[in-house]
Amino acid sequence: MTVAANDTALAEETFAGHPKGLFNLFFTEMWERFSYYGMRAILVLYMVAAVSDGGLALTNKEAGQIYGLYTMAVYLSALAGGFIGDKVFGARRAVLLGGIIIAFGHFTIAFASTITLFIGMVLIVLGTGLLKPNMATIVGALYKPGDMRRDAGFSIFYMGVNVGAMFAPLVCGYLAQGEEFKAWLSSVGISPHVSWHFGFAAAGIGMVIGLIVFVTQARLLGTAGLKTKAAPAAVVETSTTAEFLSRDEWRRLGAIAVLFVFNILFWAIYEQGGSSLNIFASKCVDNTIFGWSFPSTWLQTFQAGFIVLFAPVISMVWLKLGDKQPTAPTKFAIGIVLLGLGISLMVPASMLAAQGKVSPLWLIGVFLFECLGELCLSPVGLSTVTKLAPARFASLTMGAWYLSISIGNYTAGSLSGLFDEKNPSGMTTLFGSMAVSALVATVLMALLVPMVKKLMGNIK
Ligand code: GLN
Repeated sequence: MTVAANDTALAEETFAGHPKGLFNLFFTEMWERFSYYGMRAILVLYMVAAVSDGGLALTNKEAGQIYGLYTMAVYLSALAGGFIGDKVFGARRAVLLGGIIIAFGHFTIAFASTITLFIGMVLIVLGTGLLKPNMATIVGALYKPGDMRRDAGFSIFYMGVNVGAMFAPLVCGYLAQGEEFKAWLSSVGISPHVSWHFGFAAAGIGMVIGLIVFVTQARLLGTAGLKTKAAPAAVVETSTTAEFLSRDEWRRLGAIAVLFVFNILFWAIYEQGGSSLNIFASKCVDNTIFGWSFPSTWLQTFQAGFIVLFAPVISMVWLKLGDKQPTAPTKFAIGIVLLGLGISLMVPASMLAAQGKVSPLWLIGVFLFECLGELCLSPVGLSTVTKLAPARFASLTMGAWYLSISIGNYTAGSLSGLFDEKNPSGMTTLFGSMAVSALVATVLMALLVPMVKKLMGNIK
C-alpha cells in the first residue's frame, strides 16, 4: 500500500478534534464487534437447542466447554496476531486479512451442520486474532507520542466496540429467534429451523460492511499501520551488558501479576453473559412486553448498551476527581465488588425461577452492575499494563494480559457447563458461589492495594 502526498495531508485533517482516521477505525471495529457479539449472542443457544428446533442438542456442559474453548482461543490468538502484524504484514494488512477470514468464518456457519460450525469457529478465531490487536495498534499510530488526545481517542474507539456489541443481539438474535421472522420463513417455503443460520449470516454481512468501510476510507488513515522499514540497528540496539530487567521493572511486573489473577476471575464471571445467563434468559425469563414475546438474546443488548451510556459518565468522574481519583488497584477492587453485586442478583432470581418465569429486570440489573464494574476494571487494566510494562517488552506484556482474559473466558465456559436450568437450587449454588468468590476477591484485592501501590512505584 502506498500513500500519496495528498493522502498524508488528508490524514492530518481532524473531525471533532481527532484525526479523521479514527472514524474509519470506529466504524470498522463497530461492525467487526457486531459480527463477534452477534454470533456470541446465539452460539450457545443454537448448540443446546433441540434438533427439532434446528439446534445441535448438545448438553449445557458440552456447549459451555465449546464456548469456553472458542472465546479462550479468540483472545489467545490475539497474541500471535499482534506479533504477525508487527513483524510480518504490518497492522493494516493484518486487519484486512483478518476481516476477510472472519467474514468467511461467519458465512461458513451460515450453512447448517456441525462441521461447518467448527470450521467457521476456527476461521473466526484466526481472523479475530489478526484483526483485534492490530486495530488497536492503528488507533495508537494515529497519535504522535505525547499527544494528549490519545486516551480520549481510545475511549471513542471503545464506544465503537460497544455500539456494535449493542446492536448485534438485536439483529442476529431476531433472525435466529424472532417468531415473526420464523413465520415469514415458513410462508416462503423455508424451514423455520434454519433461522439460526440467518443470524450467523447477518454476523458475516456485518463484517463485510466493516471491511468496506476500512478499505474505502483507508486514505483517512494516512500511513498509520503501514509496514515500516526496519529501523537502523543502532536505533534498536540496547546495551548488551545491561541487566535483563531492572529491580524496578521486576517490581512493576509483580504489580501486573497481581492484577492478572484478579482479571481472570473478573472475566470468568462476566462471560456468563453469553453462556449460562444466555440460557437462563431463554428458558427462565418471561420475555414478553405488552403481550409481545421478544427474542431472549435481546437482553444481551443491555450488557454493551450500559457501557455506551455510562462510559462518558465514568470518565467524567475520573477527570473531576483528578489527583484524588482511586489508584488502579483500588479501581480493580471496585470493579470486582460491582461484578459480585451484579451476579449476586442471580441468587434470588434463581430461587424465583423455581416457581416460574422471572422478570427480565433481574438480568438487566445484573448487567447494569457488571458494566459499571467493567468500566472500573477493563480500560484501567489495559492502560495500567501499558504504563507498567518495560518499554522493550510492551507487546509481550500486553499479550500476557490478553492471556489472562483468555483464561478467564475458558473458566467462564467451564463454570457455565455446571448450569442446569432444570435445577433451581443448583443454579442458586452456582451463582451464589460466584458472588461469594467475587466478594472474597474484593477483600483480598483491597488488602493487597498498599502492596501493589508500592510495587507500582511512582506510576499512578
Ligand atoms: N468488550 C470488549 C471487546 O469486545 C472487551 C472484552 C475483553 O477485553 N474481554 O472488545
